[in-house]
Amino acid sequence: MVDLNQKVNSEHLKRNAYLYIRQSTPRQVLENTESAKRQYALRQRAAALGWPMERIIVVDSDQGHSGASVVDREGFQKLVGEVGMGRAGIVLGLEVSRLARNNADWHRLLEICALTDTLILDEDGIYDPKNFNDRLLLGLKGTMSEAELHVLYARMRGGILSKARRGELTVRLPVGLVYDDKGGVVLDPDTQVQQSVRLFFTEFGRESSAYAAVKSFRRQGLLFPKRMFGGPRRGELVWVELAYSQAISLLRNPRYAGAFVFGRTRIRKKADGHFKIVKDLPRDQWHTLLPNAHAGYISWEEYEANQRRLDENVRFRSADRRNTPPREGPALLQGIALCGRCGERMFVHYRKRGDSLIPEYFCNESNLTLTKRVLCQQILGGDLDLAISKLLVEAMTPMALEVALGVQAEIQSRLKEADRLRRTQVDRAQYDAQLAQRRYMQVDPANRLVADALEADWNERLRILKEAQEEYERQRQVDRSAIDSEHRERILALATDFPKLWASPNTAARERKRIVRLMLEDVTLIKDQQITAHLRFKGGATRTVSIPRPLTASEMWKTSPEIVAEIDRLLEQHTTREIANILNQRALLSGTNQAFTGNMVIGIQQRYGLRPRRDRLRQAGFLTQHEMAEILGVSQGTVSRRCKRGLIKGYVYNDRGDSLYEDPGAEPMYDARGRILRGRRKLTQVAHGRSSAVRAERSFGRTRSTH
Ligand SMILES: [Zn+2]
Repeated sequence: MVDLNQKVNSEHLKRNAYLYIRQSTPRQVLENTESAKRQYALRQRAAALGWPMERIIVVDSDQGHSGASVVDREGFQKLVGEVGMGRAGIVLGLEVSRLARNNADWHRLLEICALTDTLILDEDGIYDPKNFNDRLLLGLKGTMSEAELHVLYARMRGGILSKARRGELTVRLPVGLVYDDKGGVVLDPDTQVQQSVRLFFTEFGRESSAYAAVKSFRRQGLLFPKRMFGGPRRGELVWVELAYSQAISLLRNPRYAGAFVFGRTRIRKKADGHFKIVKDLPRDQWHTLLPNAHAGYISWEEYEANQRRLDENVRFRSADRRNTPPREGPALLQGIALCGRCGERMFVHYRKRGDSLIPEYFCNESNLTLTKRVLCQQILGGDLDLAISKLLVEAMTPMALEVALGVQAEIQSRLKEADRLRRTQVDRAQYDAQLAQRRYMQVDPANRLVADALEADWNERLRILKEAQEEYERQRQVDRSAIDSEHRERILALATDFPKLWASPNTAARERKRIVRLMLEDVTLIKDQQITAHLRFKGGATRTVSIPRPLTASEMWKTSPEIVAEIDRLLEQHTTREIANILNQRALLSGTNQAFTGNMVIGIQQRYGLRPRRDRLRQAGFLTQHEMAEILGVSQGTVSRRCKRGLIKGYVYNDRGDSLYEDPGAEPMYDARGRILRGRRKLTQVAHGRSSAVRAERSFGRTRSTH
């Protein structure tokens, strides 16, 4: 190291010398010519060590590349290649440790230099990587360089972050906000810019959709300011058509709400050395958020509400749940019904019942999660629609003028705002034209070339002004006709003839739905013990309607309570078939509007827990044929024959004609096995000598065997 020439031998001198020059950014290349001079001076030293000038090869293709990784640095790779192939006798660099900033690259180069017996030279001296001491020194230099880099970066980053934490960091502002002389953030003093941004937020507030706000701007022929951030027109303000992406970034940017924010995007380094920008990080990952830090166009609350609205819109769109336009079906709330449980939009299904369609509103969460299918709630719409129609008709009369006037005022104010903005566009064109005129007037007429150019410019400005004026007039006409004929008539008709219009059979379901949408923002439905509908009117008024829960299908087809009571009463005297006949004679109908049959009556009797006729007779003490036969000491056939002849009183209890018989005398007594004792004894007493206990026993045995 002390004696430079000791390390350089003829073997080294036979090979080439490589001078590696590197600058980080194009800016450094331009500004840092000083270090470039130093690097070229190294060439002279190599020459002094014995290398001929023509064999000192300069590798400087990495100028303008960042040194953080080797991937993009062609020059460094070329150098490594040359060294590896043993073509290099010495490598020259300003600070060799900076040859490769990345430590791994650096050690690799040292390794290769050691293997190929290549020397290294910087301003401090000459090193032989084969030599242990030199190698140690070089390694240390590399490590030091990396440490220095780290400290430098941390210091810079730390400075930025602590400034950001205080909200004092100067960053690029979105259009509509500028820095004042003292470095504070203020609204853009250009009133046209300011008004445009204001109008945009107002439009979004009205429409609740960025897309609709953009459309509204386009429809009204309004341009939106945009600040150029690069290219030859850097910093200039241009007027362009408002793009959807711009609208979204306006709405998502907290700075419009007067909040200082830092770290909404993050740059990640990928394995291949390239960078990836992660935009729109979730709020909890932002580095700094300081609400109310400076002037803004909207309040922080409005900003938060806008975010919620945007998220909602995204969700609706992704699941194709957009507020659908009115369709043919009769469901009044189609497209405006919201689920009161989860807040999602509800769908409509129709159930066919006879000739009519019964709407059913339902919320199906599966469309959101896309994983499991959960029915959130399901509400039959028939009665609900009726209740809401009734409320609308009732509400319309006193509210009519208020709503109509409110709507009209809103339209008018909107037009006025748009008109004012368009007027400024004309004013601007006029100003430009006047400016061009003045320039032309001031030029020396002798200077033909300049005068011609200025005159052409003046003419061009006049043409633009004329166009702007014409466009302005045209839009004014459109606005006027829009409010004159169509809107006013529609509003007035709605206000005066509403109940008539609503009830008219000529009004189609789709028209009725359109009317509902003119009046209502949305309706939130909750099914509980009853069904509650919260109506939100366009003007902001709210109403709540509650109706009893509609009956389920089985409840719906229920037999009326009167008929059930009548059947209960008739069962005392009649069989089910007789009851059916009686009911049919009285022209009564079942829940499903059908004539009764015996089986239907049995069904009703079972469903409503009515006591069967047989039980009623048994409870009243009537006897079965078997019991009667035992009491009388005759066969069961005899009992039935006697009944037919009217000797015994029998009552038919079912449709098969089975009967129960009236107890002929005193109450019977039963033995331990349930057989009637007293009746038998009584019968033997009245047997007129003809009968006997034996005969009674025999008949008992026979009946038992037939049992
Ligand atoms: Zn729901």
